[in-house]
Amino acid sequence: MKLLLHTCCAPCSVYCIKTLRAENIEPTLFWYNPNIHPYSEYKARRDCLINYAEQKQVQLVVEDAYGLDEFCKNVIDKLGTRCEDYCYPLRFRKAFEYAKANGYDTITTTLLYSIYQKHDKIAEIMQAMAKEYGIEFLYRDFREGWREGQDEARAAGLYMQKYCGCVFSEEESGLGREIAKQLKKQGISPTNANVRKIIENNKEDGIINPTKIKEKQ
Ligand code: SF4
Repeated sequence: MKLLLHTCCAPCSVYCIKTLRAENIEPTLFWYNPNIHPYSEYKARRDCLINYAEQKQVQLVVEDAYGLDEFCKNVIDKLGTRCEDYCYPLRFRKAFEYAKANGYDTITTTLLYSIYQKHDKIAEIMQAMAKEYGIEFLYRDFREGWREGQDEARAAGLYMQKYCGCVFSEEESGLGREIAKQLKKQGISPTNANVRKIIENNKEDGIINPTKIKEKQ
């Protein structure tokens, strides 16, 4: 098997590389993440992965692409569904194209490791592209190793990001902490989707006053 592992960051790759190698599968990591903003954050995650790949002696392909304006233009009218409608397909398609052009017969992604991602959507999009490109999709529920992978990433001193990647996820993460406290008091689990909805509903002329979020749902 010649496997390409689309890789979002070093911490998420730790458990994936470990379990694949335990199955005698040697992955090639593939970095293509123009969804990560701002540039300082993009650079921190990319460089951390480059160093980690060297340390683990795993092959890494870097498609260096930073895309703040292009990304924003493409998601601004669909913030609630931006992950599955734009971000996942954008990154996976590039990985499939690379795999096809370079003789990889199998593909998967570290996004299947994150407990914060839309796991089923990721699998669905991957499966559909696998069919389209004639490449096998290796499904794994890497989330089962979430705690183990996080602990190992911290112990290895890897850069641990505080939000998913795009500026909108940074907004959800920052404002979301305040909104989440209030939602929990009401017995509602905070999710990116309901936090996003509250942020949008609290905007006036596109602007939000963080001290006056009223949790309009
Ligand atoms: S939240 Fe994460 S997966 Fe969703 S659009 Fe932003 S960077 Fe992409």
